[in-house]
Amino acid sequence: MSNKVAIIGSGFSGLSAACSLAHKGFDVNVYEKNELPGGRARKLEENGYVFDMGPTWYWLPDVFENFFGAFGKTPSDYYKLVRLDPSYRMFFQNKEYLDMPADYESILQLFESIEPGSAKKLDKFLKEAAYKYQLGINNIVHKPALKATDFMQWDILKGAFKLDVFRSISSVIRRQFKDERLIRILEFPVIFLGAKPADTPALYSLMNYADMSLGTWYPMGGMYKVIEGMKQLAGELGTTFHFNAPVSGINIRNNLVTDIQLNGKSYATDYVLGSADYHYIDQQLTPLPYRNYSEKYWEKRSMAPSALLFYLGINKKLPNLLHHNLVFDTSFEKHADEIYKQPKWPEEPAIYISCSTKTDAQVAPEGHENVIVLIPVAPGLSDSENITEHYYHYILQKLEYLTGENIKDHVVYKKSYAHSDFITDYNAYKGNAYGLANTLKQTGFMKPKIKNRKVKNLFYAGQLTTPGPGVPPSIISGMVSARELEKQFNMN
Ligand SMILES: Cc1cc2nc3c(=O)[nH]c(=O)nc-3n(C[C@H](O)[C@H](O)[C@H](O)COP(=O)(O)OP(=O)(O)OC[C@H]3O[C@@H](n4cnc5c(N)ncnc54)[C@H](O)[C@@H]3O)c2cc1C
Repeated sequence: MSNKVAIIGSGFSGLSAACSLAHKGFDVNVYEKNELPGGRARKLEENGYVFDMGPTWYWLPDVFENFFGAFGKTPSDYYKLVRLDPSYRMFFQNKEYLDMPADYESILQLFESIEPGSAKKLDKFLKEAAYKYQLGINNIVHKPALKATDFMQWDILKGAFKLDVFRSISSVIRRQFKDERLIRILEFPVIFLGAKPADTPALYSLMNYADMSLGTWYPMGGMYKVIEGMKQLAGELGTTFHFNAPVSGINIRNNLVTDIQLNGKSYATDYVLGSADYHYIDQQLTPLPYRNYSEKYWEKRSMAPSALLFYLGINKKLPNLLHHNLVFDTSFEKHADEIYKQPKWPEEPAIYISCSTKTDAQVAPEGHENVIVLIPVAPGLSDSENITEHYYHYILQKLEYLTGENIKDHVVYKKSYAHSDFITDYNAYKGNAYGLANTLKQTGFMKPKIKNRKVKNLFYAGQLTTPGPGVPPSIISGMVSARELEKQFNMN
């Protein structure tokens, strides 16, 4: 077998796999259905605005450093990173808000000023979170998670109790902190992982360590700069890219992938690494006898939320907002139930507002604001123009209330984005935004596997497999899957 690899998709996981394999001397071709790389992290450039269509939070900077470091590079070879201070603003009822300072001592003081005695508890909580982070990010997430024994290693077993896999993060937080605002601050990071805090293992307090100790960063120009950097690196390492190239089938003979189908032609390959949504690769592109799972299996998976997004260009400056703003002025419990328990369009959702012009003047015309509003919603809902308009009015009211400004007459660019767009643009299962939820039952080796069971030259990467959703995990996923593919190559 020679070493030609076809990677389907050019999101973070596909680019990461491409760099890893090209670096090892594989002949790598990336096939991407859209005209730009980046997948969910694409950019939208219109009328002088540059919107990040997906991720806006740059967390876990060490994962990016390690990634670029694996190729003798640093993130600064490709983009300029700044640390945000405050990291974000969290709004509660009646416009009350708390700003999360970047500095650790200031965070402890903030907690103490709200709930006496809480600084000490937070310090202990974060030390435990640091332990989970070190073991989790430096060790566990790099496992291929093909079987339970992948985790039977002395330092993991020794720390298993401390890793808190069996208690929920919500119970651990609520036992120690009583003030609802502090609880909200501590619970919000796991929303990124796609499940209610009550259903998320306390292992993921490592996200609090990421938030409060490692900090919130921003690549000048936007998150898309990271995609551009990774694409450039993949090119430098010898990857060939094909855009507007929707793969429509994977041909398999005698339990081996022989070629992929594209625009009515077939292209021979020795390996396929599918980094588009796993469900799509498995159920739509792979012939029935070789699928890793049944449709019933997928139906039973808990998917992370989808999102209704608004990309807004506003021709004036907005006071009272920071770069990142989380608005929890309604019942988040009710909203979370509308996402996870009884999926429906939410009545009074919490929202996230990004206003990157607070840090970066380049992403909008002078004097304007670049605003993205995100409403997390259940996957699998059907969206329509009426629904989108309803929430447009909802978010405009919120924005006007929080800023005290007339905004509706100053929106000079507007685009909405929801489930049907995720499906059309990315073949997203149920229109999910964030992949597979990191619930208790979908952690570690209980995730869809990175390797096909019957076809030894078919691999998977991305936010529906190991280690999970989010930019840093997707980057790691590409590296882990590439390593498994290389192992297989060496065995042939
Ligand atoms: C709105 C939103 C906000 C987010 N915010 C954050 C955040 O702030 N921080 C964070 O860390 N994470 C965030 N995330 C999550 C993060 O963006 C994702 O986890 C990550 O980008 C997923 O990368 P991926 O490579 O798994 O998938 P994708 O980015 O979806 O890449 C898959 C690629 O495959 C392509 N493809 C699909 N079908 C085919 C086909 N048949 N042929 C060829 N190509 C195909 C798609 O076009 C796509 O480019 C956010 C996600 C969304 C949607």
